[in-house]
Amino acid sequence: MLDTRLGAVLSTTSKHLSRLESIGVKTVDDLLKYFPRAYTDNSNYVNIIDMKIDETNTVLGKIKSLVTIRTRTGKKLTKGIFEDETGSIEVMWFNQPHLQRMLPRNCEIVLSGKLKLSAGKLLFQSPSHEILDKYKEQVHTGRIVPVYPETEGISSKWLREKIKPLINEWIRSYEEYMPKEIIKEEGLVSLRTAIKNIHFPESDASLKRARQRLAFDELFLLQLKVLLKKKKWQKIAGDGKKQMTTQKDVIKYFIDNLPFKLTKAQDKSTAEILADFERTFPMHRLLQGDVGSGKTIVAAIAALNVIKNGYQVVIMAPTEILAKQHYQSFLAFLREHNVNIQFIAGSTTDKQKREIITQMKTGTCDIVIGTHALIQDKIGFKKLGLAIIDEQHRFGVQQRAKLKEIGDSPHLLSLSATPIPRTLAITVYGDQDLSIIDEMPAGRQEIITRTVPEEKRQDAYRWIEAQVQKGRQAFVICPLIDESDVLEVKSVTNEYELLSNHIFKEMNVGLLHGRLKQEEKDQIMNDFNDNKISILVSTSVIEVGIDVPNATIMIIEGAERFGLSQLHQFRGRVGRGEYQSYCFLFTNKLTQDGLKRLKGMEKYSSGFKLAEIDLEVRGPGEIYGVRQSGLPDLRMASLTDTETIAKARRQAEKILEKDPKFQNSEKLIEKLQEITEVFVND
Ligand code: ADP
Ligand code: MG
Repeated sequence: MLDTRLGAVLSTTSKHLSRLESIGVKTVDDLLKYFPRAYTDNSNYVNIIDMKIDETNTVLGKIKSLVTIRTRTGKKLTKGIFEDETGSIEVMWFNQPHLQRMLPRNCEIVLSGKLKLSAGKLLFQSPSHEILDKYKEQVHTGRIVPVYPETEGISSKWLREKIKPLINEWIRSYEEYMPKEIIKEEGLVSLRTAIKNIHFPESDASLKRARQRLAFDELFLLQLKVLLKKKKWQKIAGDGKKQMTTQKDVIKYFIDNLPFKLTKAQDKSTAEILADFERTFPMHRLLQGDVGSGKTIVAAIAALNVIKNGYQVVIMAPTEILAKQHYQSFLAFLREHNVNIQFIAGSTTDKQKREIITQMKTGTCDIVIGTHALIQDKIGFKKLGLAIIDEQHRFGVQQRAKLKEIGDSPHLLSLSATPIPRTLAITVYGDQDLSIIDEMPAGRQEIITRTVPEEKRQDAYRWIEAQVQKGRQAFVICPLIDESDVLEVKSVTNEYELLSNHIFKEMNVGLLHGRLKQEEKDQIMNDFNDNKISILVSTSVIEVGIDVPNATIMIIEGAERFGLSQLHQFRGRVGRGEYQSYCFLFTNKLTQDGLKRLKGMEKYSSGFKLAEIDLEVRGPGEIYGVRQSGLPDLRMASLTDTETIAKARRQAEKILEKDPKFQNSEKLIEKLQEITEVFVND
């Protein structure tokens, strides 16, 4: 059994065992899945005469002599002469006096390590060794050698020695769980081959195939897991109670009377949502689109359909200002449709609140809009049909669960203005359906984006001053400081003082940061909204989707510290009104890479495109909004490997379609049940 404790099979000390245990390696299976982090290829022997300085050389030769001495500093130095038929070289090790005993003289051994030139002398320094035994396979030298993530007291060498025989003994206990067709279609090696070769590959090619197999497995199982979760949710909630018919005439009238034509992407998303309402289970959909791409109108059409089916709608935003903006948009959009819309804010009096809650409970109000706090209170609805959640990554899993509770499984539509590439989205938000608005309404002006060199800073300030005198407003975002919140507040406060007392002395400058109380933040944002503040200096708390049409300038300090998708979020705060808008990127120090990244900002205005670049260059965790959503724990696969993700998704979908009960792949069920609480037959 692969879950046999290591203590029962390894001959080693209890100290080693407890060290392994502390890194989560307890069983045979754990150890065989303790994958190397790298490999050194010393499969090619060189002659001593051909050894290269500062490179790893692997030499087959004989030790002629060996002595251990004590240096002046008290270290033990073991040194000697190593030779082959082409020459000889001095070899030495620090603090490994046991080698004196262990290494045989005049007998073939392999040494592998770096050749150093020190004080004019060539020295083979601390090479790893392997004594050749024609009955044993080589482990440490003369091959592609695995290098393991090392922890205190557990060396790679030790791990290699223990893992090698374990593989030989236990590999047959691994049973193939991947369906044959998938193995064939994806050209995968067997599980056993993969595990063996991930530790001790015979060649680069076999290592590559081992990696491919293991990476595919991780992604495939992950996709199966999210798809099963989705299916389970559909089944639990799928009693048809919230099934609706599309109110075609009402919707057509609504769309025909808009002052603009919907974009293709808006049309498509609308159709996807309306189709969801017609099904027997509640929608769980994420609508992604850049700021200004027109998500609100799509949400409004969805709401209208729900109301005309006799249900209620709740809309929640992360801040009160955003909730208020939704309230105003919905009032405007639905004015002609005889819809009762209510708004709950912190400032709503208790009396008003009670009134609204009564309306919700009796079904008199059709739409209630507020912050996420709306679901914290013990409120209820008569007939909740749809919950719309703005900026979903700020909305925790628990809150979502709560919503299901209070609303008796309403349809769920999340809106997100933080686009992420599709392959990543199906992994991170895989249990939801995705609608993507990747197209801006026609005639939108682009925000002019420039990286400003330091010597142009004063010019930029004077130009901004002139704009402010014309009535425009500006944001100044201060650099991201990882170390601490306190430092960040200090830095933003310094910047504020500099700007308000010197650079923009004559203007109203405001300050916003995360340490302020919510009411203070709201007050400042309101003042900015009302143009009582012209220039708002802020930390990255500004990122939330506030809409101030008169703000046309976004200045970002230390721009190189932010990811592209986050810079793009900041930039989305301007360009919301009729005036040409600008984004200026200032940098502290810029590398070639950094410069190239910022050029991406100048070139692209699509959040999807920028997130793709971020994913490639900085990895998934750096994409704005993704880390908060929780990244899967992957050992072998990479979330940037879009090709394998797409393949894994396709195969997962295919198997759920063809064999939803896994009747032809029982082994796969077992495997799935090991890793997920979602049971196939639930
Ligand atoms: P988002 O919520 O995606 O950031 P909004 O829904 O607030 O974007 O839309 C931004 C602005 O664009 C709004 O004023 C909206 O009325 C307008 N708008 C939406 N769709 C279109 C369209 N197809 N053509 C022109 N303007 C549109
Ligand atoms: Mg919006």
